[in-house]
Amino acid sequence: TQHLLARVAGAKDLGAFLHVDPDLALSRAAAADTRLAAGEAGALIGVPLAHKDIFVTRDMPTTAGSKMLAGYLSPFDATVVERLNAAGTISLGKLNCDEFAMGSANENSAFFPALNPWDRTRVPGGSSGGSAVAVAAGLVPATTGTDTGGSIRQPASFSGITGIKPTYGVCSRYGMIAFASSLDQAGVFARSAEDCALLLSAMSGFDERDATSVQQPPQDFAAQMLAVRDGATAAQPLKGLRIGLPKEFFPAALSADVNGAVRAGLAELEKLGATLVDVSLPRTELAIPVYYIIAPAEASSNLSRFDGVKFGHRAKSYGNLIDMYEKTRAEGFGAEVKRRIMIGSYVLSHGYYDAYYLQAQKLRRMIADDFQQAFQHCDLIAGPVAPTVAWKQGEGADDPVKAYLADIFTLPGSLAGLPGMSVPVGLGDGGMPVGLQLLGNYFKEGTLLHAAHALQ
Ligand code: GLN
Repeated sequence: TQHLLARVAGAKDLGAFLHVDPDLALSRAAAADTRLAAGEAGALIGVPLAHKDIFVTRDMPTTAGSKMLAGYLSPFDATVVERLNAAGTISLGKLNCDEFAMGSANENSAFFPALNPWDRTRVPGGSSGGSAVAVAAGLVPATTGTDTGGSIRQPASFSGITGIKPTYGVCSRYGMIAFASSLDQAGVFARSAEDCALLLSAMSGFDERDATSVQQPPQDFAAQMLAVRDGATAAQPLKGLRIGLPKEFFPAALSADVNGAVRAGLAELEKLGATLVDVSLPRTELAIPVYYIIAPAEASSNLSRFDGVKFGHRAKSYGNLIDMYEKTRAEGFGAEVKRRIMIGSYVLSHGYYDAYYLQAQKLRRMIADDFQQAFQHCDLIAGPVAPTVAWKQGEGADDPVKAYLADIFTLPGSLAGLPGMSVPVGLGDGGMPVGLQLLGNYFKEGTLLHAAHALQ
């Protein structure tokens, strides 16, 4: 813990952390030492990590990357944090992210951007940018993140590390500041599938405080990852595994470097015994408009709670109550958050609800059905995480639609609520890392981790 605290202090310019608490971390480390000295066993006792600043914590401030939550201290811990604390992990602090997890580059953080350690002139991806940077730069071995439309898979890909977003409902959303509740899901970043499996086992499982938490018994994802497949050999651990390649995930516009690295990863999977099959997800392109209607709609509702009364920021001077709300929200929210609140309010308003929101909901169901069709022919689906490698800082800043379009390969799985991973498979333009996206059917985290582990 001491060593990593020094590394964190020395890497301040990367912008990974929004808050570090060395004293608290060292006292937790001492407590972990006591547990270990007493002979307690547990893979995570004494493992330093850090949490995306979207998880509320009672002993450190929580901002969600927004000025709106300035001065806010939660009276409770998010379930994910509570469980990882109980498992003996040591949190060093809170990690930078896009404001309320809205973004793909960490440039929507109200505080400062996070820089990609592979090339500091480039973005690390987002919204869980700080989480990816902290692992990629070796500041902590693992971090938590959240993925609503790709915010774990895309920064993992851009930063050359491994990330997993489980099936919707596997991790509790209790204490995770809500962006789009029907999509939000917690997950992990680490250097390997194995580390992801250990963390995910500890943080997942039913929680009665989240109404969409899935009632399944605690899972040992590491054991599922290591399970031996029928007919597998040491050289071909993936024998019998069918991996579907949706043709829509390999469009002509996919950049050649990403295509090359992804194909190399697929060839590796084949060598390990997997069979590649062609499948189709015909509504892939529609996932973009569908997501950018549903997510803002839910966000506009969720963010109505930030009114200057209950949490964080309140305007200093105002006239009546309405004026107080307006000034508080005008000052507290950044441009992207305001844009989404406006889009969301519009698509939910009378007269537009049927034309936009209801249509989007119907298409969401069809996108999920397309996956079930595809899974008739394969066990996992593979493709790129993003159409390009990490772009330069500032490049996407004035064109939000360009960033939205780059979410094309992560949004379909999110809308369907499926588990997904990003696994590093090579380098693309500028020597930047490229991730392979693996998607599984509901509750197939074990199969995902199994394939990722074999590849590593
Ligand atoms: N890039 C997507 C967005 O801006 C996804 C964000 C996320 O998964 N939190 O909404």
